[in-house]
Amino acid sequence: MARRILVGRVLAAVSTHHASQRRSLPPRAVQRIVSRRVVRVERHAKHQHIVLDDGGIVAVHFRMNGDWSLANAGDPLPAYARIVFATTDGLRLCLVDSRALCTATYHAPGAPPMLALGPEPDALTPGLLQDALARRTGPIKTVLLDQRVVAGLGNIYVAEALWRARIHPAHRACALSERQLQALVRGITAAIADGFARQGRYRAGLRDRPFKVYDREGQPCQRCRASVARMTQAGRSTYWCPGCQGRR
Ligand SMILES: [Zn+2]
Repeated sequence: MARRILVGRVLAAVSTHHASQRRSLPPRAVQRIVSRRVVRVERHAKHQHIVLDDGGIVAVHFRMNGDWSLANAGDPLPAYARIVFATTDGLRLCLVDSRALCTATYHAPGAPPMLALGPEPDALTPGLLQDALARRTGPIKTVLLDQRVVAGLGNIYVAEALWRARIHPAHRACALSERQLQALVRGITAAIADGFARQGRYRAGLRDRPFKVYDREGQPCQRCRASVARMTQAGRSTYWCPGCQGRR
């Protein structure tokens, strides 16, 4: 839709309607975009690059469920409109995302965005994960935090996913078995789904987050009752269960 609506048109205004989008696209970036003509829109998996006539690029990332919605000037904005691109001839292309995870970032002429991010967690398959982990000899916990391996996995989700997959956090990343790769993809998917299901509770504060292992040092494992342990890997805390998370 972005290609059909934006290419050839001139941007009259870009507005952000949520704090996290304002951080990714601050007013000084918006200033560089406004009054530029869109020359093309490139698709890269879940990114779209809106290429401007001076060579600048607006990189839009849809994350889990962002999408475009079209409105005419004067229409009410659609629900969950996070970023709105208005054209000089009266169209408004809205980036809608109920979870507000989508982002748009501005990249000046000559400084295009990196495309070195790994696959998105929700597009992950055991085969893709195996490719991403090939030749990675480090511990799986640390390797999974590298955004070039899997995009967007943080410390909490990695701990939760490894526990679900019963994989030791120090296991060599490139040496996971096929069965472990399958379990890890299921674990990542489940950990993220669980996180979103409890999203409302995040506001209640860290103490109320019912994680499986994260932040549960010394408490009994919900699967095997062994005591959850904590160690430091690459400067970050790793929570894991010595009872049921296999051998390294
Ligand atoms: Zn356990």
